[in-house]
Amino acid sequence: VLDVTCEECGAAFSAKTRRAKFCKTSCRVAANRRPSKTGKAKEQGQAAGAVVEIGKNAPAPPPADPPKPTYDTLAEQVRESLTELKALDTISGMAALRIAQQLDRGGDNGSAVATLTKELSRLRAEARVEAAPRHRDGVTTIEERVAGKLLQFQAAQ
Ligand SMILES: [Zn+2]
Repeated sequence: VLDVTCEECGAAFSAKTRRAKFCKTSCRVAANRRPSKTGKAKEQGQAAGAVVEIGKNAPAPPPADPPKPTYDTLAEQVRESLTELKALDTISGMAALRIAQQLDRGGDNGSAVATLTKELSRLRAEARVEAAPRHRDGVTTIEERVAGKLLQFQAAQ
């Protein structure tokens, strides 16, 4: 017979085996119902993790719609469209921009405007074709960039 202290109520009792931890059945049942300290800590950790996860997955507020661009001049519009095509620094692109600027200045008669508009449209299409290979492989050589900058600089004169 062993003298043992009950793990549940702390009472000393006589046990028949070494495995006995509780003085009576109700103490054993009570102890087994209560989760162990480590078990509880684990549960709390999981709960905290779940909270973080919810925070992560919370939907972001929808982005505000960007304002629609408005163009004061034809040249602005052409520049924007050439930039989108990555064709602003192509020869055709630069020529198209110059024509747009010419049209913006006004003072041309009807037939001149018609000719310039037709030429502008042709050059825009050409600029798109010129820029197309770069769209495909995404490569612009330094020489091409320098040439483009030079043309831009000359056009600004
Ligand atoms: Zn007990």
